[in-house]
Amino acid sequence: MKKVVIIGAGIGGLSAAQSLEEEAIKKGMGLEILLLERKERIGGNIRTEREDGFLVEGGPDCFLSEKPWAMELCKKNGLGDKLLTTNETNKTTFVLSGGRLHELPEGVILMVPTRIIPFMKSTLISFFGKMRMGMEMFIPKKKGDSDESLADFVTRRLGKEALDKIAQPLVAGIHGGDPKTMSVRSSFPKFVQMEEEYGSLIKGMLKKMTMMKKARAAKAGSGGGRPKVSMFMTLRDGLSELVESIVARLTMTTIKTGVNVTGVIKRESGYEINTEGGTPIKCDSVIIAAPAYAAANLLKGFDNTLSDQLMTIPYVSTATVSLGYRKAVVPHPLNGFGFVIPKAENRRIMATSWVSVKFEGRAPDDSVLIRCFVGGANREESVFLSDEELTRLVKSELKDIMGIEAEPVLTKIFRWHKAMPQYTIGHIERVAEIAGRTRRYPGLYLTGSAYDGVGISDCIRLGGDTAKKAVDFMRGK
Ligand SMILES: Cc1cc2nc3c(=O)[nH]c(=O)nc-3n(C[C@H](O)[C@H](O)[C@H](O)COP(=O)(O)OP(=O)(O)OC[C@H]3O[C@@H](n4cnc5c(N)ncnc54)[C@H](O)[C@@H]3O)c2cc1C
Repeated sequence: MKKVVIIGAGIGGLSAAQSLEEEAIKKGMGLEILLLERKERIGGNIRTEREDGFLVEGGPDCFLSEKPWAMELCKKNGLGDKLLTTNETNKTTFVLSGGRLHELPEGVILMVPTRIIPFMKSTLISFFGKMRMGMEMFIPKKKGDSDESLADFVTRRLGKEALDKIAQPLVAGIHGGDPKTMSVRSSFPKFVQMEEEYGSLIKGMLKKMTMMKKARAAKAGSGGGRPKVSMFMTLRDGLSELVESIVARLTMTTIKTGVNVTGVIKRESGYEINTEGGTPIKCDSVIIAAPAYAAANLLKGFDNTLSDQLMTIPYVSTATVSLGYRKAVVPHPLNGFGFVIPKAENRRIMATSWVSVKFEGRAPDDSVLIRCFVGGANREESVFLSDEELTRLVKSELKDIMGIEAEPVLTKIFRWHKAMPQYTIGHIERVAEIAGRTRRYPGLYLTGSAYDGVGISDCIRLGGDTAKKAVDFMRGK
């Protein structure tokens, strides 16, 4: 029987395992799968914890519905009725500017305005800033297809204020990233496509919205009913349920936790996997689903060029600090999903989610759950403060910004050391080089958030694609 070893039991490795099994069954092929995870816990960045009636997500708390692969996997794994939309009555996002929270105007999608009246009424952007953003429709499109930083792209199309007050804080909140170094082609390929196709982001976004409206109307007209889908989706009992649902379905896979893989070596027929304190494991194919820098360490000595190429994908560290409060002691109305903070505000947190407003069932009825993001490209050092210092820092920011003086009834800190890959300028070319070099070793695959999409949904897509390639390779072997 053929044997595959998967290194890393995050969503990338787990979804690859499930897809390998599905492909093997489809092709009538026997397969032995060994999934090795360094930590005692599986799920990688996905980590849900419950305490005193609060449901706390340590890492990701949702996935984008626009990218269908996470929703599809949830449905396939019997979690369709557990899918949870965001609270649709209160979905404003705020931006801190001049020390005050301003609404991100309704109709601004990421950084692109699509509705004129709320945009003109906004107190976030100055009159000149609004005029500049509106002019986006008349800015000619860029010549050539060279990569560009997100900062240059947004400034060129929408102006400096759109960058400083909207794009920069949003990407810091989502990617922990710095728009000056981020590749627009890799991080926001849809924007580049819109510019190429429509000559304008505003025109492209309006067109896309019209198409979506028509599709929704057609679905409702055909008896499909109103789909229960929001831009961000999660699971009622937390994202760890997705991890558990995968594990429950695996029948050909043995999962071993607490196993640190130290090296991958090419042998005449297949590969040899070395682990700390263990005997070498022989296999026909290996899928490395660990972060790029970890993959680089595993391949050192085997192919130093590939290892060096993998090291060029940078990562940043972040931390989430979740605080639970009794409602009565929170003076703020929590009238939205939370707020993001531009760098110019010089604060020590990047963003805050009003979690119990965004998703139901995250806090007891008499309480609220607030989650703050710390670290990222601009303030990575904060992640390494002690628990006491980090809690003090976050409480002091929430006091200044939201007026909360009371003590939380729950405090949960999760540190994510080098967990967010940064798709910096030239990322596409770097990944193409890595893929080209990897192809020299039939049966060796790399998957996970480092390469072609940083979110959960993309990791699931990539895990599935990788599994198909691995099965095809083993059938042909
Ligand atoms: C704070 C935070 C918030 C996020 N929020 C969202 C969100 O809301 N929505 C969204 O879609 N995405 C979000 N993301 C991104 C999302 O978490 C990732 O896209 C996804 O979880 C990455 O999965 P992965 O399997 O590629 O990597 P990981 O989850 O990092 O898994 C890799 C695994 O490999 C293991 N490993 C490493 N080295 C070895 C070794 N030598 N031997 C054995 N095992 C090894 C690691 O221990 C780890 O378990 C967030 C990320 C963070 C950090």
